[in-house]
This record gives sequence, C-alpha cells and structure tokens, in this order.
Amino acid sequence: MCIHHHDVANTQSAEEKNMLTKRRLVQALAAGGAVTVAGPALSGCATNPATGEKQFLLVGEGQLSQMAATSWAEAKRTTPTSTDPRYLNRLKNIGSRISRGAGKSNEQWDYAVFDKDAKNAFVLPGNRVGFYKGMMDFADNDDQIAAVMGHEVGHVTGRHAAERVSQQMAGQLVVQGGSVLAGSQLGKKCRSQAEARIAGRRQIARQEQIQIQREYQNCLSGAHRKTQLLSAALGMGFTFGIVLPYSRKHESQSDLLGAKYMHKAGYDAYQSVRLWEKMAENSPSRQPEFMSTHPDPARRAEDLHNYIKYQESLGSQGWKSIKMPESS
Ligand SMILES: [Zn+2]
Repeated sequence: MCIHHHDVANTQSAEEKNMLTKRRLVQALAAGGAVTVAGPALSGCATNPATGEKQFLLVGEGQLSQMAATSWAEAKRTTPTSTDPRYLNRLKNIGSRISRGAGKSNEQWDYAVFDKDAKNAFVLPGNRVGFYKGMMDFADNDDQIAAVMGHEVGHVTGRHAAERVSQQMAGQLVVQGGSVLAGSQLGKKCRSQAEARIAGRRQIARQEQIQIQREYQNCLSGAHRKTQLLSAALGMGFTFGIVLPYSRKHESQSDLLGAKYMHKAGYDAYQSVRLWEKMAENSPSRQPEFMSTHPDPARRAEDLHNYIKYQESLGSQGWKSIKMPESS
C-alpha cells in the first residue's frame, strides 16, 4: 500500500502581491507541520532501491531496531544459543558474504544460532539474524544456508518489517479517526484545516493569524499524541518480530532478493531451488515450521528456478532487479 500525496501546484498568481501575508502564514504552518507529527524517522512514500517498488513507511529502521533489541535479547535468554564454531562461525561467514552481496557489508550484523531442532530462521529489525540448529543441519551445503540467509537479508533490504508496522499503524488510524488518515497525513489534515480558513481571503488580521496558528498547533499535538499512543501499542506487541507472519508478497520478494544476493556473493543460486525441493520432499504431510507462514515450497522452488533462468538469459544485464517479465 502506498498513499500518494498530490501536492497542490504552487504557481505564481496575479494576486500574489496581495497575498504575501497569507503566504507567510501558510509557510509557517508548513514549517511547523511535518516535523512535529512525522518526526525524522518517518519517510512517507518512498521507492525502495532493492525492490524498485513504492512503499508507505511511517516508521524508520532505527526506531524498529530499538524496539527489536528487546525481542532479540529475550529470544537469546529463553532459548539456548550455540557458540560451537561449526555452527556460529559458519553462519557468520555466510552472513558476511551475503551482506556484501546485498551491498550491506558496511552495516553492523548480528548472528545467533539457537540450539533447537527446528527448520527455521528469522530476522529482526536492526540486522539481527537468528538460525535454529535444525535449519543448518537440514542444509546439504553452505549454498543452501546462504539461500535462507539471503531470504532473511531480503526482508531487511525490502524493509518488510517497517512496511508491515506502517500498514498496521495506518489501519489503526483508520479505526481511530474514522477516515483514511495515517501518520503524517494527520499533520496534513491539520494544515489543510488551517488553510481552509484562509482560503480565498486577501487579508488576515494579526490577531486572527495568531488564533489560526494556535489552533493548528493544538491540532498537531493531538495528532502527535495519537501517533505516540500507537507506537506504544505496537511496541508492546513487538515480539511479533518472530510471531507475525510476513505476507506472501514479502516472502516471494525475499526469495528472489535472496537468490540475487547468493549470485552476487558467488554462491550457486540454484541451491535455493534445491533447498525448497528438499523441504517439499521432506514433509509431504506436515509443513515444517519455516514454511507454515510461507508459500508452498514446491511453488517457491519453481518461482526461484524461473527467476534464476530468466536472470541468466539476460547475460550481462542480468541480476540487476527482481522484476520478472510477467510481473513488470
Ligand atoms: Zn520470510
């Protein structure tokens, strides 16, 4: 989801001279607006460089990373972690190659191997990647572990956590406000209310200007309170980093990004296909945990196979995006 703002065209009009006072007021409103409500972390509608898609983001990575620190510590406290180099060093090496393949080697990454026989892995905001021993044991080779690592890193570069939280926040705001309002949209609403009062008027007395600005500030702090309440509510339920599933779309995106990062890191991307085929063969009756929130493994294998074949067919132009011919 991405809400597109249609900015009002600011063309110079013949009445410009008469409206200087008014214009200054509008500018003052604008200056006080976005900053107070949106804050520096909110980026609104932006194009994601990894996926090439527009994303509606009300929270920034830094904000999520702080919240996820608690979840990460909690996970490590409640589940024993392994320091066995055959697991941890192996994972760290694969992680650093994949993060380089993703162009993210300049960032701090945190890896943990959880001593649990589960075919599962996860990523938390702040570049925290957790693997269960069972996942690593299931893999035939480093390339297959790299496939899962690439997938998790894909969730990071795809900014899937921020998008998911933003969608939830927007949903809550819709319920609260009874209309489609989200984050910085609340600030815009305050601004347009103030602007409506001065629309079509040539002069506004100083007293009234002060009054309008005061009402505008009140409107903004109300909006700010709502945003804070939501952040608190979302923060409390933040263990969802592991609990809440990603959408199918995010999963598929991560698969393709993962294959791309594998290729860039010098791994055999086809091993991702092999991994999901193995998953499908391994438990025909009962889905392993890693897949319970994910698309059908046979389908994932097929999609990955098609993607890799397509990238290879592009020759030197390949591996630049995750767009497929039919989806573009
Ligand atoms: Zn996933």
